[in-house]
Parts: sequence; structure tokens; C-alpha cells
Amino acid sequence: MTPQQAKDAVLLLCRERGFESVRVAAAGPTAHGAFFREWLKRGYHGTMNWLERAPEFREDIRVRYPWVRSFVMLALDYAPSLPDDLPEDSVLSRLARYARALDYHEVYKPRLLDLERAMKRLAPGSQALWYQDTGPFLERELAAKAGLGWQGKHTLLIDPQSGSWKLLALVATSLELEPDEAAQDHCGTCTACLDACPTRAFPEPFVLDARRCISYLTIEHDGPIAPEFREAMGGWLFGCDICQEVCPWNRKAPEALAQAPEELETLTLHKVLALKPEQLERRIAGTALERAGTARLVRNAAIVAGNLRDAALVPALEKAARHAEPWVREAAYWALMRMESYEAYAAVSRAQRHEWDDGLRETIIAYLQRGTDHLR
Ligand code: SF4
Repeated sequence: MTPQQAKDAVLLLCRERGFESVRVAAAGPTAHGAFFREWLKRGYHGTMNWLERAPEFREDIRVRYPWVRSFVMLALDYAPSLPDDLPEDSVLSRLARYARALDYHEVYKPRLLDLERAMKRLAPGSQALWYQDTGPFLERELAAKAGLGWQGKHTLLIDPQSGSWKLLALVATSLELEPDEAAQDHCGTCTACLDACPTRAFPEPFVLDARRCISYLTIEHDGPIAPEFREAMGGWLFGCDICQEVCPWNRKAPEALAQAPEELETLTLHKVLALKPEQLERRIAGTALERAGTARLVRNAAIVAGNLRDAALVPALEKAARHAEPWVREAAYWALMRMESYEAYAAVSRAQRHEWDDGLRETIIAYLQRGTDHLR
């Protein structure tokens, strides 16, 4: 089998399994190894310590799996539109688009596994391994090398035909497949994504400081969110799409009509704040929100509530102010103080009587002593 014949056979297997956007990259050392190590050295990955593990694998996977000769790169469209009859208080519009449906890992896993097995059957003795997000790869760079798109200044992959609402997956294979041509950069002089980022998460084009990114803060970051980011978080409960929403290459992006699970569609800020952890856990089961876990979601919901200054959320915030995690309670106090209402102020006063964390009690007393002026 020639590399072109092997590639044609693999592309057919992909199409048979519903993967339409597929291209091939040859295995080899990454062009961005030095950049990646410098990115880690600057601490831009925050607490995502797993990225520090074995960077040599990310730079060339053949250090780990010497048999890899090619990567089959798959782009999976996602951009679920919001249902027309979405309840007004649903949190669905406060989630990054990819999180509005069932967890994509679970959705694509059976098809990717099936593809891996079919590829192994193509040539006796050949090897293949599928990955989605969790492998030691620089997936976006590999996807760009395969020509699926280019990495925009916001660091995400953009397909010139269909934009950036994409998930990436790959199958590493021992087969030699004819590689595709790399994609060209079409960002030009545009800086829309860099300008729109409310937390200034891009120290320079093509470089993301994850520690400032709302996606990182709401999903990966444990503990309190620094005050400087709270207002900038706006209404985002989980993830953030601002840099993609403003990208001109997404104007013609196709809408993928993934159905949101009812548990998510009917979830509200009030419920996130007031449900018991085990109840909230059940509501988010099977969705990407599980990655953040319930405590971070309640913290995020409190910050969103504080930004909305929605007086109707005061009772729910008072419940969140009894959360087991002190950094969740602090977010609830912060939100209540931003309400600038007698009810909210009274709720903080009541909560203070139950606060068992000495440092946090001092924070509340300071909040109460200063009144609401300093929080405006
Ligand atoms: S918004 Fe502009 S600079 Fe940013 S990724 Fe899109 S085209 Fe590139």
C-alpha cells in the first residue's frame, strides 16, 4: 500500500464514521517546542500542572511511542444554537458553547475507538491510538500542520471555511500516510480577539496567559477568583467564548444543532446557588460542567449574581454563604455586598454569625463596616 492509498483508505474509514473534516500530518518534532517550554516557564499554564509532565512527548511523541509515523487529525464541529423557547433564566447562554450539550468526550469516544480499531485492521500488525484532549500532544499545532486551519491570534484553530467552533481529536498511527499541506495564517492585521478580551489574557498575539483567561478561571482554577477578574467575568458561569464570538472568521460558521440536555436547559443561577451539592452534581452529570465540579460552579454563579446585581438572587446567595468551602462563601458575601440593598446587607450580617473561618469573618466585618460604597 502506498502512502496515498493508505491515506485514501483511512479517509474512507473516517467518512463512514461521520468524520468529514479530516487531514493528515506526518509525525516529527514540533516547531513550537521552545515556545511551549518558555510558556510553561512563564507560568502561563497556571495550576494545570499536567502540562508540565513530559514536555518531550509533546515535542515529539515518538519519544514515547517510536512507532508513530502519522497523525490523522479530526475537527468536530460544535456550535449549538440556543433553543428558541429557552427559559429566560436558564444558564445555558452563560456556558461556553461546547458545554451546552452532553460532554463531547463521551459523545465521540465510541466513534473514535471504532475508528482506531478499523485503522488497525487496515494493515496487519499496525498500531493506532486515539486521543481527545488528554494525550501528550500539541493538538492545535498538529491540526495546523495537517492543514485543518491555522492557529489564530487567540491561539485557537480556525478553518477558513467554517471558523473556530471546533473540537479536535486525533489518531496516531504506525501507517505512513500521505501528509496534507499546512494551512496559512489569515489573521492579517486583525486584533479583534485581543482587544475584546475583558481580562487581557493575551500578553501578545498568539500567546495566552491562562491565569487571566475566564475559561481557565471558571473551570480549572480552584479557590477564590482574584477581585481584579470578577467584574470582567461578567455573566460567564462556565468557560468563555468572547474571543471567538468577535472573530470575523466565525461569521459564516455553521450551527451544529446539538440538543442541550433538559437538566442543563432548566438550570438557573438560583438553582446553582441554592441546590445541595449532591443535587447539583446530579443536574450536571454527563456534561462538561462536571470538570469544574459543584464548588467552583457555585463560586462562579455567585460572582455572576454579583455582577448582575439581581435582588431576586439574595436568598440563594445567602444559602451559598453556608457552603462548605470558604472561598465559595467569600464569593457569596462579595456578591451580596454588591447588591447594595438592605436585604442583602442583612443577609451578610446573618451569615456572619455562622461564619467559622476567622479570616473570612474579618473580611465580612470589614465589608459591613465599610458599607457598600467601596464595592461599587
Ligand atoms: S479575531 Fe482576528 S486576530 Fe483574532 S483569531 Fe480571529 S482573525 Fe485572528
